[in-house]
Amino acid sequence: MTDPILLTPGPLTTRLETRRAMLRDWGSRDPAFIALTAELRARLLAVAQGEATHACVPLQGSGTFIVEATLATLLRPADRLLVLVNGAYGERIATIARRMGRAVDVLRWPEDRPVDPGRVAEALGGDPRLTHVALVHCETTTGLLNPLAGVAAVVAQAGRHLLLDAMSSFGAIGTDLRAVPVAAVMASSNKCLEGVPGIGFALIERRMLAAAESVSPSVSLDLHAQWRGFEQDGQWRFTPPVQVVAALVEALRQLESEGGPAARLARYGENCRVLVAGMRRLGFDLYLEEALQAPIIATFRMPEARPLRFASFYDALAARGFLIYPGKLTQAETFRIGCIGAIDRGDIARLLTAVEAVLGEVAAA
Ligand SMILES: *Cc1c(COP(=O)(O)O)cnc(C)c1O
Repeated sequence: MTDPILLTPGPLTTRLETRRAMLRDWGSRDPAFIALTAELRARLLAVAQGEATHACVPLQGSGTFIVEATLATLLRPADRLLVLVNGAYGERIATIARRMGRAVDVLRWPEDRPVDPGRVAEALGGDPRLTHVALVHCETTTGLLNPLAGVAAVVAQAGRHLLLDAMSSFGAIGTDLRAVPVAAVMASSNKCLEGVPGIGFALIERRMLAAAESVSPSVSLDLHAQWRGFEQDGQWRFTPPVQVVAALVEALRQLESEGGPAARLARYGENCRVLVAGMRRLGFDLYLEEALQAPIIATFRMPEARPLRFASFYDALAARGFLIYPGKLTQAETFRIGCIGAIDRGDIARLLTAVEAVLGEVAAA
């Protein structure tokens, strides 16, 4: 049995070398693993050019854990968070902040519209209590790319702090922390970095992180304490997922040899173009306007003319070795196909052949 191609970010399809890096046992307090952790933190910081200003704090868990830990560490009881929402991951940020008892305001846009920096500027101007703003860079609900530079500029101009969920963009869509003012960038191991799941991390302005002692109401989700641990002895506070760390370091070395985020984005862009053109030819329209679609995950409408249930479409493609994603929209009937992971246009071409064969079967039935 060969592994299926995962078009489900994430977990997503990883390189064999990345999975091979997990074959070894590491002592978590051994100098070799301490060096590996240091390499991990340095490489993650370098991906966003944050060496001079930010610190990298990795944390055990999926992406949601790092979002929760970052909000817990940086939002004080007197702070007020403005969450910019045009999809499920923005909603999740608001839910997390509310659950920990922080004051939250929400600005909403339809799921097929980008966040508008002008409205953000207006909201900040109208409410001096707002201290932080949260933005989802690529809203994975649809694959929409929000205007990071525009939002970051108005947040900085208003003297507030931007918290960026870059989970599904980090490693491909560049975030240059020397040029774009972001207080905290949050991401995880298993999306554009092409590692395996199990680690989230935040790149946080050092000054802000240093001032956040004992702010978090949680012991394990406290990034100040987690950072102090790394700074003191290079070790993780609690049991680290050693194999996941080893795989992510290997994946980061491969990102460098591929040519960095720009080269990776070019590969994903080609995957996405081939996918969208091929799906259109087969009768599936893109849900978003093409200009708003990031080459990360594409959302397609179920054709109204064709009686195709997602479950049977999924099963038929899975039988041919491709796993796709259901839609996550509240309105339209859709499904999603990822463009990221260790895949190229040849894999996408094979997927399109499989989709065409499945459609032929449905028509014949
Ligand atoms: C994947 C993702 C997350 C985190 O999801 P987990 O399932 O907890 O890993 C958060 N935000 C965005 C935008 C994502 O794509």
